[in-house]
Amino acid sequence: ERTEWRQRVNAPSVSKDGQQFEISANIGNPNDVAAAVQQGADGVGLFRSEFLYMGSDHLPTEDEQYQAYRQALVGMHGRPVVVRTLDIGGDKPLPYLPLPREMNPFLGYRAIRICLKHPEIFKTQLRALIRASAHGPLAIMFPMIGTIAELRAAKEIFNECRADLQTVQPGLGDDIKLGMMIEVPLAAINADRFAQEVDFFSIGTNDLIQYNFAADRGNDEVAYLYQPLNPAFLGLVKHVIDAGHRHDTKVAMCGEMAGDSTALPLLLGMGLDEYSMSASSILRTRTLMSKLDTNECAQLADEAINRCVTHEEVRALVEDRLGAI
Ligand code: PEP
Ligand code: MG
Repeated sequence: ERTEWRQRVNAPSVSKDGQQFEISANIGNPNDVAAAVQQGADGVGLFRSEFLYMGSDHLPTEDEQYQAYRQALVGMHGRPVVVRTLDIGGDKPLPYLPLPREMNPFLGYRAIRICLKHPEIFKTQLRALIRASAHGPLAIMFPMIGTIAELRAAKEIFNECRADLQTVQPGLGDDIKLGMMIEVPLAAINADRFAQEVDFFSIGTNDLIQYNFAADRGNDEVAYLYQPLNPAFLGLVKHVIDAGHRHDTKVAMCGEMAGDSTALPLLLGMGLDEYSMSASSILRTRTLMSKLDTNECAQLADEAINRCVTHEEVRALVEDRLGAI
């Protein structure tokens, strides 16, 4: 099996009927790029930039960050890199940026909410990113966006930083794609509106599931509510993908679900464009993808969403089909 996977390291990510997709890597720092390339990643679909901050004893400077983003872009040899702006708070504290203790940290002060309150921290990161974009195809995405106002505020700060850097270097950062995570339920529901304001979506299923089922992603007692295959949840994912495509907005997924073999036929059937996962899952996913027909998968997704009632039923349905290939 593993030999079969290895043969696909330089192969494109295509379905049985020849449709092309992207299978990318999730990374936490630029040193992870080597493994991503070794596993044949089509790009980096999620660079969790908070690890740069968590691995430092001070707020990383613009230059320190620039070096890290540049290293990732150079290491990917022209393949795209999506960097997510700082996503701390919730389960990820920063020792040198004391945040108030909270009753409900996952519902509290985190990610873009902190960045919009601290534009100096946000601008340092955005400037570093814009400078690094000279070294390869870079995309930036904002985490935990729930309202259009938050998205517009983030974009405005980005535009300000870019205009400022362009007074010295005209054109710098003009090719940067801007996107947002879909991980707050309202953003998923309102995807049609959001799609008109970004180049791409990336569905963060770890948080999107946590918030939709109102179940803490780290609490074992409620782990039974982690149900990526729940038909109602699949319907929401399909709504996001359809909304994106109505507005020519590319739709990616970078939560755990993207690398789940049982979910793959369903996501392929819904037309998801990019699958970002841990590097070790890439070749398994590419191999399975090559055996799946998108039209058959579309029917399967339709059945899962419209005929099944529980996630167990969806699992049984998909496993039955997968058993046949
Ligand atoms: C997610 O929420 O699905 C995601 C990819 O982000 P993180 O796991 O870093 O919250
Ligand atoms: Mg998240």
